[in-house]
Amino acid sequence: SPINIDTIPPVRVFPDFPEPGVAFQDLAPLYAEPGLLARLGDALVEPFAGAFDTVLALEARGFVIGTAVAAASRSPLVLARKAGKLPGALHRSKYALEYGSAELTVQHGALPPGARVLLVDDVLATGGTMAAAAELARQSGATVAGCGVILELVTLGGRKRLAPNPVTSLLTVP
Ligand code: IMP
Repeated sequence: SPINIDTIPPVRVFPDFPEPGVAFQDLAPLYAEPGLLARLGDALVEPFAGAFDTVLALEARGFVIGTAVAAASRSPLVLARKAGKLPGALHRSKYALEYGSAELTVQHGALPPGARVLLVDDVLATGGTMAAAAELARQSGATVAGCGVILELVTLGGRKRLAPNPVTSLLTVP
């Protein structure tokens, strides 16, 4: 069933977290709503149905919705992890956050060459994190089928940065 935003508990906003000037969108009320996570997973699969065969979930909050998307679509789940977390030979991609910077990694061979990958995270802000994930797919010889997030912070321009990759967000804030 389609997500009716009127029936979803509001995202909580914390001003000046984790730094002055940042309005932190807290999705915890959504995860606390019985059954909603599964519906969010279904809703992110739907626009990409048939277009992807693998889910890449981005550490850390992307693991939650990424797991729901992989389970809903019966797809393999691959975890893109922060630097220092994965053993073995790695693809690496550095990126800037809305606050701070970080590096995402994925193991060699985790994304098979030719895989059509759906990148999944909780929030799309500037798009730097998603762009780093897309770079990991590229390094792996896979292709990006699209990007799916629960919440898009529209004015930060992530969607444009990720073009021409299709982006689906279930909720938006200006
Ligand atoms: P971006 O790289 O600027 O698009 O930021 C998106 C990444 O930062 C995602 O991995 C989010 O988990 C995290 N993030 C940025 N802003 C917020 C927020 O307001 N709430 C929760 N996570 C956020």
